[in-house]
Amino acid sequence: MSTTQEASQNKTGDIFGQLTPHDHEQVVFCQDKSTGLKAIIAIHNTVLGPGLGGTRIWNYSNDADALTDVLRLSRGMSYKAAISGLNLGGAKAVIIGDASIIKTEALMRKFGRFVENLHGKYITAEDVNTTTQDMEYVHMETSHVVGLPESMGGGGDPSPVTAYGTYMGMKAAANKAWGSDSLSGKKIAVQGIGKVGGHLLSYLHKEGAKLFITDINNDMLAKYAKDMGATIVKGDEIFSQDVDIFAPCAMGAVLNTANIGKLKCQIIAGAANNQLDDENVHGPMLLEKGIVYVPDFLINSGGLINVYQEHIGYNRETAMRKTENIYNISLEVLRVSADKKLHTQKVATELAEKRINDILKVQSTY
Ligand code: NAD
Repeated sequence: MSTTQEASQNKTGDIFGQLTPHDHEQVVFCQDKSTGLKAIIAIHNTVLGPGLGGTRIWNYSNDADALTDVLRLSRGMSYKAAISGLNLGGAKAVIIGDASIIKTEALMRKFGRFVENLHGKYITAEDVNTTTQDMEYVHMETSHVVGLPESMGGGGDPSPVTAYGTYMGMKAAANKAWGSDSLSGKKIAVQGIGKVGGHLLSYLHKEGAKLFITDINNDMLAKYAKDMGATIVKGDEIFSQDVDIFAPCAMGAVLNTANIGKLKCQIIAGAANNQLDDENVHGPMLLEKGIVYVPDFLINSGGLINVYQEHIGYNRETAMRKTENIYNISLEVLRVSADKKLHTQKVATELAEKRINDILKVQSTY
């Protein structure tokens, strides 16, 4: 065994030590030489229902990083489902490798067989580097998959629903900060104008907000500047804009000690996952600064609500109505945060954990 292999084994040596802190139920390592599949499925908690979470393909620098990521992501799914009132547990899968090289029909179908072997305890969906087409392949081997195209009875792209939920969470924050839901005339900075950010811009433009946008895709920037009169902002300058609301809709871990210091906004409400670089440091920092922050796993739960509807029988209207409720849940989280002087990410996590523990009591008798 090489030194590198040993180092890697050392990192993963205490695997159970990584499962116990957040009480993960089950972790499945899937290996298939013939298709090149190396995947990890992590099921965090199934008290509320089967664990649902997408499959991410990522070229991790080592297996230990892949395990860490899938454990963190699956726990987040438990909270997202719990706080949204869904009867779903939390799980996630990662396939290790460069999607542009390893992704084939055979690999996705082999992965589908591993999902099938879990008999519905885990339900998969698309995530970073997987598409509805990939889920069609998975579906050839298992029925435990959602995020299928509308032509197959699925809910299609969840992004418009995620954007609607983000808009609802933003309105709740406006109510908390200014006593009114209206976003008319508010200056709003949106970082990332992709699938979710783009739909969010449409809602905000329709309501008469003044938009400031940044992205690494210049064509998209030009399009939204023309269509919506949005002002284009360069890269990190988005953090120091003199705006009322900042909506991170690009990548995770965007809020850190350095840029929180520069923020002039009163509200942070965006769709990106895991926005706080370190929630225990940056959650309290936002509270201290008096910024109303709507927790990421709550405000972006519209996508999960949409695929849950697919699981129980898809109906877009129901998905949108349930997503609208993000407004009420956000108000409640913001109220408790103000009352208890606790940062909102912690309040939301505690609410999610409380629902899981409450339902556990329901299950104590037949
Ligand atoms: P997307 O890939 O369509 O859009 C992301 C956008 O961010 C792209 O336009 C990209 O060019 C831009 N971007 C990337 N790096 C950037 C940078 N450094 N600065 C500025 N812009 C940058 O993805 P999406 O589906 O719109 O998702 C956006 C975020 O919301 C992600 O964090 C995702 O995990 C989260 N999310 C999405 C959904 C969903 O339904 N799509 C659900 C829950 C959470």
